[in-house]
Amino acid sequence: SSIPTLPLLDGRRIPQFGLGVWQTPAEETARVVGEAFKLGYRHIDTAAIYQNEEGVGRAIAESGLARDELFITTKLWNADQGHDSTLKALDRSLSKLQLDYVDLYLIHWPCPEDGKFVDTWKAMIQAQAEGKVRSIGVSNFRVADIEHLLAETGVMPVVNQIELHPLLQQSALRDYHHQHGILTESWSPLAQGGDLLKDPGLQAIGQAHGKSAAQVILRWHVQLGLVVFPKSVTPARIKENAEIFDFELSAEEMAQIGKLDAGTRLGPDPSTLRI
Ligand code: NAD
Repeated sequence: SSIPTLPLLDGRRIPQFGLGVWQTPAEETARVVGEAFKLGYRHIDTAAIYQNEEGVGRAIAESGLARDELFITTKLWNADQGHDSTLKALDRSLSKLQLDYVDLYLIHWPCPEDGKFVDTWKAMIQAQAEGKVRSIGVSNFRVADIEHLLAETGVMPVVNQIELHPLLQQSALRDYHHQHGILTESWSPLAQGGDLLKDPGLQAIGQAHGKSAAQVILRWHVQLGLVVFPKSVTPARIKENAEIFDFELSAEEMAQIGKLDAGTRLGPDPSTLRI
């Protein structure tokens, strides 16, 4: 069954499911993204810091897919925050991706103590007006950071991409996003493929549906209305991860997964990460 799209605040739409390529080695990226395209993936989540934008670009060029069928996200790295450096970094990303525009451009981390994300955001608003990016958003922003952007520019990010999985469910940020029409994107949706996949409760839910624990977790994100792009370089898993639109978790199963929340962060704390 086909991948749903969700509406963004700016009137555009985003495929709810895609492929993440953090830690996908540069030399494997074109192959991995090409496999995903053949399996029906259309949404790719990369970043300048992943150092694999060229591979994503090669896969796009070789896919034969129309540009408007694809949804490509990249992210501005922390060291490039600031007005002019943002515009230059975007041009570098577009050149590596062999694209005239990206569908979504994100500020990767707020780095609040460095005080540059408002100037960065103004450059992204300019890049959007120039047609180099269709939609603009943020990643790892806290409520206070989003409120600050809004107060300074009046322009809301269409998404906030945050660490989110059953062990870190982020209900306060999700509520805030929901109230303001911001979509939540879940990074490390499988908790990076660690012990969570061995959780007996998740495995039992999977067995009841003929699905794996990974598929149960991804389906949980989808039913919460989140945007999700698990990473894998393994063809069988890339295929498995996309097979989540032909079953439904019950309210009881959703509630059972809800109880796994432990406030466990796998990545950095956005409050303290600095440029
Ligand atoms: P993830 O939660 O997607 O886990 C990926 C790992 O899980 C794989 O390396 C593999 O070991 C395992 N896995 C994948 N599919 C599996 C399956 N079907 N069965 C068993 N194991 C499986 O972790 P991630 O890569 O950290 O997150 C996904 C994407 O989120 C990234 O690729 C990136 O695009 C994005 N991300 C963004 C940020 C940010 O700061 N904005 C940070 C981290 C990740």
